Amino acid sequence: MEQKKFFIETFGCQMNHHDSEKVAGTLIRMGYAPTEDSSEADLLLLNTCNIREKANQKVFSRLGSIEKCYRTKVGAKVGLLGCMAQMEGEKIFERTPNVNLVVGSSSYSFLPQLIAQVEQGVPHVIDVTQDSDRLFETYTQSRENPYKAYVTIMEGCNRYCAFCVVPYTRGPERSRNGTHILSEIRQLASEGYQEILLLGQTVNSWRDPAGEIPSFAELLRRVADIEGIRRIRFTSPHPSDFHPEIIEVIETVPAVCNQVHLPVQSGSTPILQRMKRDYTREEYWRRVELIKAAKREIALSTDIIVGFPGESQEDFEETLSLMEQVQYDLIFSFKYSPRPGTEAYSFEDGISEEEKSRRLLVLQEFQRKIQLERNARFIGKEFEVLVEGKSRDAKDLMGRTTQNKIVNFLGPPELLGKWAQVRVTRFSAHSLQGELAS
Ligand code: SAM
Repeated sequence: MEQKKFFIETFGCQMNHHDSEKVAGTLIRMGYAPTEDSSEADLLLLNTCNIREKANQKVFSRLGSIEKCYRTKVGAKVGLLGCMAQMEGEKIFERTPNVNLVVGSSSYSFLPQLIAQVEQGVPHVIDVTQDSDRLFETYTQSRENPYKAYVTIMEGCNRYCAFCVVPYTRGPERSRNGTHILSEIRQLASEGYQEILLLGQTVNSWRDPAGEIPSFAELLRRVADIEGIRRIRFTSPHPSDFHPEIIEVIETVPAVCNQVHLPVQSGSTPILQRMKRDYTREEYWRRVELIKAAKREIALSTDIIVGFPGESQEDFEETLSLMEQVQYDLIFSFKYSPRPGTEAYSFEDGISEEEKSRRLLVLQEFQRKIQLERNARFIGKEFEVLVEGKSRDAKDLMGRTTQNKIVNFLGPPELLGKWAQVRVTRFSAHSLQGELAS
């Protein structure tokens, strides 16, 4: 009998991408083979994101014309995974009856049983329970990147920011056992992985449920002690749990990358309060000051939302002034999108779509100039990069510095997965161009 094939399309954040790796590992263990061609898949899975309305619309429009979008094989089964599956539940079957399977992100360990039901011909199978015990330990993972590995250390969020669906889609905050995290990373190191990205919705809120590792900062130290691990990153930390001890670790442990993503969302204290971010602009800035004072220069990136209900032109300008003050290396910026179930959904969303778009453009142009100035400093400097793949136009190799800066450079393909020393020769706002230095 021909081996059954699966195809997964992933939408959204790194957590989702890593979940897809876990799902792929489970399916391979069940006897399925992965395929890059959706038209030959017996099982077509969409791992979805629900963070903004646009993400939802995109998935529904794909499902609406699934044969056209994916040229599906006759009899192929279709499954919806992830945050949108969790939020919409049964409603997905009503709107798109061609979907056979709906599974929330807490239920992936039940996939073998759920898929077996679909294979037996049950038309609609669903599991969107938020089981807390069986969340982390899916030992079969099929990792997309052969050089750097994602490792989940915590899931969910207890912060209930007024704009955010994460506490509803991912459930309450749950941390993974420290010894389990370390043994997964030891295994990864033995397989040759040298870079680890620790993942969690508020990654630095991690607390060892077994009480053996006293803090997130200590976890970073223990990961760095594992032989073979040369780089450790983590995302996304929450500013309120960003303690000075984390900065000390970055300063003193070279394997912990000197790069921090610290989502601010707005530069205006009244808006931060309405967002329920539990810090003021000044408190956020104090953390940034500590980061900037570190002995090792730390690159800083952030997330910003424009057009949150009640954001005046003055509030928006406060955000620009914070950007000027901080001098971020990178920002991810979004127009506010009202999400059902969140507190802000009931706030009057009085800012027009045009005005939100205008603010977003102004903000992105403001940041582009900051990045150009910051990147100009690197001309002539040399960096060690982990060579991860080809550049976007496939002409060059692409590597990242420890500060997470992308450097494109000409080099032999044998360098893939290796370390290279590169000298920066040109720059743009988003990347650096270099040449092999030795
Ligand atoms: N854990 C992160 C934090 O500290 O808030 C949140 C990660 S979230 C997946 C990524 C980003 O999406 C958020 O930081 C926020 O900027 C943006 N976002 C979340 N909800 C949004 C909404 N309703 N509208 C627009 N952007 C949103």
